[in-house]
Amino acid sequence: MAGNQVGKVAIVTGAASGIGRACATRLAQDGAAVAVLDLNEGDAKTVADEIQAAGGAALAVAADVADPESVARALAATRDRFGPVTILVNSAGKTGTKRFLDITLEQWTSVLTVNLTGTFLCCQAVVPDMVEAGWGRIVNISSSSAQGGQALMSHYVASKGGVIAFTKALALELGPAGITVNTIPPGFVDTPMLRRDEARGRWGPNTADDLIARTPVRRMGLPEDIAAACSFLTSEEASYITGQVFGVNGGRNT
Ligand code: NAP
Repeated sequence: MAGNQVGKVAIVTGAASGIGRACATRLAQDGAAVAVLDLNEGDAKTVADEIQAAGGAALAVAADVADPESVARALAATRDRFGPVTILVNSAGKTGTKRFLDITLEQWTSVLTVNLTGTFLCCQAVVPDMVEAGWGRIVNISSSSAQGGQALMSHYVASKGGVIAFTKALALELGPAGITVNTIPPGFVDTPMLRRDEARGRWGPNTADDLIARTPVRRMGLPEDIAAACSFLTSEEASYITGQVFGVNGGRNT
């Protein structure tokens, strides 16, 4: 692979599926060696195999972003294989739909732990390599639901709002070290998570056509739309962009 990321090493979390998978594939096309990190080892291996079959460098890493020891093992495996990590894309996520009064503390904590604490843990694990290199790129996948709010998802929306605020704070702290930190809040992107939500009735009475009609560009997003933005934000050319909420949502939220 010959792209602008040749020689760089990336970790993409949640990379066995959907947006993470597309980001991992795109970063490999850009030339980075990519750790395909996910809870789901079998699917992570499939993605890593696909990347390698296309001529890229990839390693499947089974890990839980919510578990600090698991994250540490994943980083060690990636460093052993490819060297220090200077690109991190946090895409692992957990959704949920519940009336506010029905959300249990356990459910609240579980969603916050994967989406927000998982992002914190992965950043904290990888930042020392970036500081050492004097260069780093972090992209946190948040959600357009944290920009506009979303009924019946207050735990999820709170976790993603936390990711946006965390991104802004981390960008201020890490900018002087040559590390940029940005967040992409996707909206209505056609992934297994979105389709599972549809099957569980989480779209309410809405069909895909209803939601497309309310999307200014009149289509669903594709994982590759997010991956294209991720490719740019992790590139050298994006060195003056940090702490930004980089919406990729067909104009649904501005
Ligand atoms: P997806 O297709 O379900 O992919 C998410 C991946 O993350 C899955 O492979 C999942 O594994 C993995 N994962 C979940 N918990 C994990 C953990 N603790 N450690 C490691 N991996 C874990 O979903 P997606 O739509 O691509 O979502 C990617 C990100 O975009 C998420 O953060 C989501 O909140 C955000 N997002 C998506 C949309 C959209 O329209 N699709 C909109 C807004 C925000 P399992 O399948 O085994 O759980």
